[in-house]
Amino acid sequence: MRMNFECTGCGKCCHFPDGYKLVISTTEWTDYADCFPLFLSFEFFRADCLAVGLREGTTLTKPESWEHLANSGQVIAVETALGKMYLQMRAQIFALPGPDGRCQALKDKKCSIYDDRPLVCRAYPVATDYPLKGITAMSAKGLKRDIEKKDYECKSDDSAPMLIENDILPTETQALIDKYWLGLRDVSKLLMKAEGFDRVMREAAEMMQTNVDYQWRTDLMPILRFMSPQKVPDKEGLLRRQMQLLQEILASPGESETKKIAAHVYESYQLQGVPVP
Ligand code: SF4
Ligand code: SF4
Repeated sequence: MRMNFECTGCGKCCHFPDGYKLVISTTEWTDYADCFPLFLSFEFFRADCLAVGLREGTTLTKPESWEHLANSGQVIAVETALGKMYLQMRAQIFALPGPDGRCQALKDKKCSIYDDRPLVCRAYPVATDYPLKGITAMSAKGLKRDIEKKDYECKSDDSAPMLIENDILPTETQALIDKYWLGLRDVSKLLMKAEGFDRVMREAAEMMQTNVDYQWRTDLMPILRFMSPQKVPDKEGLLRRQMQLLQEILASPGESETKKIAAHVYESYQLQGVPVP
């Protein structure tokens, strides 16, 4: 697999009009809490429905049990009113764009934080959210789709520099992807320790038990409800700033998906008694 790529600076990948969102890795989220409203998205999957995948990945043999997988951190054991359930979790942090769907850091088609932009922006067009196996093929497919369907103006013909050659990613891109995956693991670890998170998991598990669906997803959890910033001494100041950013979006004219998300996140903070700035 090879892939040619050159950015022509059209700025289109910094628009999020159709539900696509800017993913922020947990290794860097505190760096961006002052510039974007941030929120969490969780997906829980019933582990028993994914048993085939687990067996392939972990060589599950007879003496091993769900409890063993839970103890080694591969699934989460949740006590519910209807009994014990085993879940897999995927959690992500997103930055909310402006009401017009553009990234709030985009100014005159240029990234105003280019030298310090998030790592998914640095890695583009290499996909960050696929396991390494197959990542080059998925990236090439994604770039083609973005150019054809989303009208991105990236150059991808032979005249553009080669980004991927013989399925090998450039070392610096590989390092970004590694950091991204480290961030995903970190967010799960942090959430497991967060106050009130066990209740969210229990609710999800109970809903899946009664609905017989194998997955449950919720967006729009305010980040500071669950994740306390380790590096930031002034958590109250950060919360105030998040509220201000949300207020700015809510005060803009018109209706948009972004405003709906902002309203939900804002309300959740208010319910927890966060003072309005
Ligand atoms: S941070 Fe910069 S590069 Fe990333 S989406 Fe926003 S404007 Fe684009
Ligand atoms: S869509 Fe492609 S060409 Fe346009 S700014 Fe993004 S990477 Fe560059």
